[in-house]
Amino acid sequence: MQLRYSFRIHPTIGQRVSLARAFGCARTVWNDALRLVQPVKAANKLLGNPRKRIAEGPYQRIPKSADLSKLLITEAKKAEERAWLADTSPVVLQQALRDFDKAWAAHEDSKSGKRTGPQIEEPRFKSRKNNRQAIRFTANARFSITGQDRLRLPKIGDVKVTWSRRLPSDPTSVTIIKDPAGRYWASFVVETEPQILRETLVDVGIDLGLTHFAILSDGRKIDSPKFLRRAEKKLKKAQRQHDRKAKGSNNRAKARVKVAKIHAHTANARRGFHHKLSTEIIGDNQAVYLETLTVRGLARTRMAKSVHDAGWSSFVSMLEYKAIKHGRTVIRVDRFFPSSQICADCGHRDGPKPLHVRTWTCTNCGTAHDRDVNAARAVKFEGRRIRAAQQHIPGDVPALTG
Ligand SMILES: [Zn+2]
Repeated sequence: MQLRYSFRIHPTIGQRVSLARAFGCARTVWNDALRLVQPVKAANKLLGNPRKRIAEGPYQRIPKSADLSKLLITEAKKAEERAWLADTSPVVLQQALRDFDKAWAAHEDSKSGKRTGPQIEEPRFKSRKNNRQAIRFTANARFSITGQDRLRLPKIGDVKVTWSRRLPSDPTSVTIIKDPAGRYWASFVVETEPQILRETLVDVGIDLGLTHFAILSDGRKIDSPKFLRRAEKKLKKAQRQHDRKAKGSNNRAKARVKVAKIHAHTANARRGFHHKLSTEIIGDNQAVYLETLTVRGLARTRMAKSVHDAGWSSFVSMLEYKAIKHGRTVIRVDRFFPSSQICADCGHRDGPKPLHVRTWTCTNCGTAHDRDVNAARAVKFEGRRIRAAQQHIPGDVPALTG
């Protein structure tokens, strides 16, 4: 399985110049590709899809990545106005085209419903002003880690890295990122062997908390740690200060860098918290059941901010990759599953409850419920049902119907 490891890197001034050039080259190739492909796709779209045409006329051929590579890299370098592409590792340019293909595929799969999750927009032109810049080197590019523990990047040099932990094996690729706070990162993809944990019979349901970060079916209510809440508060304050500065002013530009720095710090703190909690949950439980997709429904309400701040989806993806790594199971419970309405003791469906209702009593069995803990327990039972169905085990799992 593949895992990602990110480290802060500290390029010299000269290396920053080379990196800026590489970012620029990758961006140019991406934009050139988009300039070629977008009109063709748009024209084809006007005809409708082949099974359901809405206009007459021939479909145009969409350039394949091999065509694009030849035209926009190999041939382009020969022209004077693109000769500078030769200053950057060709692998970086190839990777830009690969990302371009992936971006279209993701957009189209998202539109056709082949890909679930939030809608993915059409690929867009990249500008120098984009706050996040990235390039990727694969093994073909012959990047390496030197004897002095530096990261050797072709046409960039030997870059200093803060190794906060050890790479478990040789990386297959590395992405170099410049974040909006102006910091540089190396994100390695590493192929690792799974480390299967000893099997346990314990499982857990997790409900996305509005009052807490997460509620577990065993009754635990998990709050984000104090340092993270403090960082989030500081971030909000910096954002407000930024918004008050006049548009286009120097002060606003300064405030933006400040916001980006605090944002980066907050994101770091949050990631740390998510790592710790997800490791603990995956270690303790053979199966984890989550109600996740309600996040999308909630995002449309005024609850949006707190939900997004909580960074739930990045936490869920950590749970998912750690589950694969350690031989555990994560099951997502359908977002239409009414966890907050179903009594986890008798399965009775008690009807909708407004958000301010924090406790309720089941009208069928008379059990008094904490809204959130009951929801987590209901998610657990629904998750068990799904898991049993997946394993084709005719289990003695209580069916939760109204
Ligand atoms: Zn009940």
